[in-house]
Amino acid sequence: MKRVFNFSAGPSVLPLPVLEKAAAEMCDANGSGQSVMEMSHRSKDYKPVIEKTESLLRELMDIPSNYKVLFLQGGASLQFSMVPLNIACCGSAGGKKAVYIDTGVWADKAAKEAAKFTEVDVRASSKDRSYTYIPDIPPGDEPAACAGDAYYHITLNNTIVGTKWTQLPDTPVPLVSDISSCILSEPLDVSRFGILYAGAQKNLGPAGVTVVIIREDLIGHAPPETPAMLRYDIHAEEGSMYNTPPCYSIYMVGLVLEWLKNLGGIPAITRLNHQKADMFYQYLDNSELFYSPVEKPFRSLMNIPFLATAGDPDKLKELETRFVKEAAAAGFVNLAGHRLVGGMRASIYNAMPVEGVQALIQFMQKFEKGAV
Ligand SMILES: *Cc1c(COP(=O)(O)O)cnc(C)c1O
Repeated sequence: MKRVFNFSAGPSVLPLPVLEKAAAEMCDANGSGQSVMEMSHRSKDYKPVIEKTESLLRELMDIPSNYKVLFLQGGASLQFSMVPLNIACCGSAGGKKAVYIDTGVWADKAAKEAAKFTEVDVRASSKDRSYTYIPDIPPGDEPAACAGDAYYHITLNNTIVGTKWTQLPDTPVPLVSDISSCILSEPLDVSRFGILYAGAQKNLGPAGVTVVIIREDLIGHAPPETPAMLRYDIHAEEGSMYNTPPCYSIYMVGLVLEWLKNLGGIPAITRLNHQKADMFYQYLDNSELFYSPVEKPFRSLMNIPFLATAGDPDKLKELETRFVKEAAAAGFVNLAGHRLVGGMRASIYNAMPVEGVQALIQFMQKFEKGAV
């Protein structure tokens, strides 16, 4: 068996012990004589699987008891619609505006989707400097200043441009955040938020399941014409089993959470993530060929875009293409930047071992010697 170091932004690398456990249990899970894939979601064999996944997530994230955990489908992208539909739509918000902070491609998509259902106020944006920073936002701690706000949406980690929020906005209205690419990567105070959501395929497991963590008072405000599948109240009442949930993905998330807990939970993974990111940024900041375009205070722990310096644009393009190709041949795959922004990007999620980042840096040092 030959494993590569996979720097994909998602779906992304999974911990090897998780894959091995899944493989060992593939045909006979827990003495049931069946694969988890074959189990009825309402069976006595499956019930402990989803219960374990939820309780591990609650434990690792320290989720308060007045929050529900939902396992849904449709990716983070469906939450772009479900959030406004459920908490700001058609009169339930009394003509209030949904506030969005535009910090990148996903934040912009979320705002545009919400605008189909409710009035949106994009209160700040970092588009002017290609999203390389997190904008200052007008203070919102004066309740009067927020009287017209329904909720406040931020994208905590910006997967494509590689920035992260370092300080949460102070707002009396529910704070909603897309945490797809940073869930469980460092401490997060869940009680500061009304709704948190994350597609699993970055830091939690395989694609197919979306985790939604929602404060109970925000459930039950969807207008009556809202389709059942898009209502938080129905999914919450049915324990994420209004219809067939993504059973196997939920099982895999459970294995990833178990792995994380055994590793030492959030304190341990935070240390490792800082070790990896610090090492990589330090290399970029000292390199003569590569650099990080992101302003220092806002650099992501998880997604690190980088660019190369080269004379003319044609030469640059050629150099980047050669880098991505040679890296892949050497076992470092998926280093091309997002198709919308170009350049390169290394996503170093929880499951990327420190050795993977060390080996990538060594490869880049060697490449640099040949190129400059
Ligand atoms: C990947 C990603 C998305 C899109 O997720 P899907 O599950 O594909 O819908 C949305 N937001 C962020 C921050 C992401 O990283």
